[in-house]
Amino acid sequence: MTATNPPDRPSPPAPPASAASDNAAPRRPLLNRRLAEFGTTIFAEMSALAVRTGAINLGQGFPDTDGPEEVREAAVRALRDGRGNQYPPGPGVPELRTAIADHQLKRYGLAYDPDTEVLVTAGATEAIAASLLALVEPGDEVIALEPYYDSYAASIALAGGTRVPVTLRPRDGAYHLDLDELRDAVTPRTRLILLNTPHNPTGTVLTREELAAVAALAVERDLLVVTDEVYEHLVFDGEHLPIASFPGMRERTVTIGSAGKTFSFTGWKVGWVTATPELVTTVKSAKQFLTYVSAGPFQYAVAEALRLPESYFDDLRDDLRTKRDLLSAGLAAAGFEVYRPAGTYFVTTDIRPLGESDGFAFCRALPERCGVVAVPNAVFYDHREQGAPFVRFAFCKRTEVLADAAARLKTLAG
Ligand SMILES: *Cc1c(COP(=O)(O)O)cnc(C)c1O
Repeated sequence: MTATNPPDRPSPPAPPASAASDNAAPRRPLLNRRLAEFGTTIFAEMSALAVRTGAINLGQGFPDTDGPEEVREAAVRALRDGRGNQYPPGPGVPELRTAIADHQLKRYGLAYDPDTEVLVTAGATEAIAASLLALVEPGDEVIALEPYYDSYAASIALAGGTRVPVTLRPRDGAYHLDLDELRDAVTPRTRLILLNTPHNPTGTVLTREELAAVAALAVERDLLVVTDEVYEHLVFDGEHLPIASFPGMRERTVTIGSAGKTFSFTGWKVGWVTATPELVTTVKSAKQFLTYVSAGPFQYAVAEALRLPESYFDDLRDDLRTKRDLLSAGLAAAGFEVYRPAGTYFVTTDIRPLGESDGFAFCRALPERCGVVAVPNAVFYDHREQGAPFVRFAFCKRTEVLADAAARLKTLAG
């Protein structure tokens, strides 16, 4: 099972016109073949559209209010006290590594040694890139749940790997993983499964049974698992279970976390990896040459954030659950079919009840039609036709903004 290039990726930038004479050899494209299919990320395009049209931006997933004041103050204090203003240690500052290890132990009973089994990265994005660059050989297959977060495809491509999508399918108002399809996707060339739960963009939270089946498959076929758990604290129905906690998984799992979504500081780019010493060392081999280190003072602040009282995490989740319900109700009233997300701060909708079928065209027109920006889920698919009628809205925005967006969307119902 091998992925094919989707036909309608945005085109790479054209090479500059050659100033040379007619008999000069044609210039080769500037952008290398590994990245050529990716073009500009849809988030940049849609956020620019939001700015240009003054529309409410429910496209890109960033909160419109900052995280806790005491965490912001902790960053200011670190800056003033001269902590982290120079290169922090390669694996991350010890305070943060200890806080991450304590977090994994307290929440999930997963014990990691802060000195050898924790690595701080420039957001989850670098953790994903470094993991794939370090673990994947050219020609290796990487299984990813489709629709997938857009950096996965680019990172797999940079590593020279081949992505093998396993498609989550909508059924009974939510998206589900087909375990037989996953099993069939494994070949002798499969290197790893790239997991994401809670899942962006569908809001799916993999269940204990599904994770147990993925774990059993990984053990049986001796696969590594890289798991993106940046939405671990944003689960509204059910619970988040790290796959590293399943039998036989701790030694084969790279778990990725991030402060961005949990503490509403997406600009700080503090992420992390927890894994065995061998896996952490391997990921660090790539990470050290990507950024080496980053976010010095913010690392101290995130160490404090991870120790916030339980009420912080409960309030964050409860607030977002209310916002999920508010936006979902608005979308349903506007005529969309809504797939209720169990986690994350995104809701996926089907636009076919509105008489539409092309999510790209729909999202490009939506700011003019009603002053709202959303993202077409097709960009998260290799098989774009499968994602064509689906559109994603973010609800990590102030209540009045969501209410305004819902009122604007209502005009679509006519
Ligand atoms: C936002 C997001 C990331 C990126 O996290 P950063 O810490 O900002 O790099 C990674 N994975 C998923 C699924 C995301 O939604």
